[in-house]
Amino acid sequence: MLRVAEIFTSIQGEGDYQGRPANFIRLAGCNLDCGFCDEPIHKQPGTPMTEEEIVDELSKNLSLTVITGGEPTVQDLTKLLDMIQKIGQEIILETNGYKVTREYMSKAWVCVSPKGSLNNLPEYYNELKILVDTYSDIDINFLKQEAYNGTVISLQPLTGMTNDKENIAKAIKLCIENDFRYSPRLQNYLGVK
Ligand code: SF4
Repeated sequence: MLRVAEIFTSIQGEGDYQGRPANFIRLAGCNLDCGFCDEPIHKQPGTPMTEEEIVDELSKNLSLTVITGGEPTVQDLTKLLDMIQKIGQEIILETNGYKVTREYMSKAWVCVSPKGSLNNLPEYYNELKILVDTYSDIDINFLKQEAYNGTVISLQPLTGMTNDKENIAKAIKLCIENDFRYSPRLQNYLGVK
């Protein structure tokens, strides 16, 4: 049983899989309370649903499901990941890195968007999606080493702020200088969830 904020279909707008149509399962709850959070729906208690009920809701026409939040790893995802795999869909797990296990990584593309220090990363992940704003320094040398080791590095400008243009310009510049991937949040441009 998991607490679910919402289930919907849309276009994945972030990270390595951007542009792919997907099912989205947004789980309720988070271990953090970031001031810039743009998904407050996760703060509501959510609807308790069994893993079977969740999978029943997914579009079977699609080949990709994104599990997001809130912070999905505050709940046990083992059974949900198994069941989505059984219907033959790829899985992206979008997480701030709270509790990522080796088992999760064996079943899903784990995209960690760290909130705060890069010193607190989990042991397992495929992609680091780094938020970029004009006020924060980014440890480029660390990210280049990660890229060299095979991690996909995506830079995503912080938007919905007064200085969106500057944040976007900084992210583009860093991507070009370092051969990182730009994560545009396509959903904002498309006017979808
Ligand atoms: S970790 Fe993500 S979902 Fe949780 S409060 Fe921060 S921005 Fe919102």
